[in-house]
Amino acid sequence: MSRQPRPLLILLACLAVCPSLAAEDGLGRDVIFQVSTLPALMEGVYDGETTMVDLLRFGDLGLGTFNALDGEMVVVDGAVFRVRADGVAYPVPDEAKTPFAAVTFFDEDIVLTLDEPLSLEALLARMDAALPGVNLPYAARIEGVFAHVKTRSVPAQERPYPRLADVVASQPTFEFSDVAGTIVGFRLPGYLQGVNVPGWHLHFITADRTAGGHLLALESASVRVALDISPGLHIALPLDDEFGLADLGGDRHEEVRQIEK
Ligand code: ZN
Repeated sequence: MSRQPRPLLILLACLAVCPSLAAEDGLGRDVIFQVSTLPALMEGVYDGETTMVDLLRFGDLGLGTFNALDGEMVVVDGAVFRVRADGVAYPVPDEAKTPFAAVTFFDEDIVLTLDEPLSLEALLARMDAALPGVNLPYAARIEGVFAHVKTRSVPAQERPYPRLADVVASQPTFEFSDVAGTIVGFRLPGYLQGVNVPGWHLHFITADRTAGGHLLALESASVRVALDISPGLHIALPLDDEFGLADLGGDRHEEVRQIEK
């Protein structure tokens, strides 16, 4: 039996983009394609069957992780990078697999140019203020020079897999100063907290694509922010027992906050 997740596709949100769902070999450009769910990852479901070839059929920008939780994924310009626990960004073979990722075909709907010192929180507030509301998903691409960037990654895990909160409790972090780079990621509405990170979730990669990670903090000097309104969300759920039998319920608000910070 095929264990590819593709046969089981759940469409959570399909608003104005429904006609584009008929697009050949894909979902259209305004749909975020997500593999599995954040609660499954939190419960230690760290192995999936979706390859990079599968993933890139649905987008050219995004983030996620890899099987065995082996690093932070950054997808930019259709290329996938793996930031391992040493902070270094490695190229990723086509056959590598992910247990959790999200991608979209990035189009610029809103552009902001910001030329002032901003913390991550202040930058996100400026981005939020430019959005036509907080009830739709958005993708973001931020290019710029940063006075300071702090990221983290996660070390590859061995079975039996620990829960995600236990892994990130000892996460390696990395600091960059006066660095040029790209930040990619998504903002999802709070009502989707049972399937992904509510609010912004961003990953960073240096302009030379040699280092990066899950974004924890920054001080910006000069950035160009592009936002992509993405009214569709398509979730490909795993067919295996590890996902099927995991306990994915409960209020995860506090645990998600701990994992993301
Ligand atoms: Zn992340």
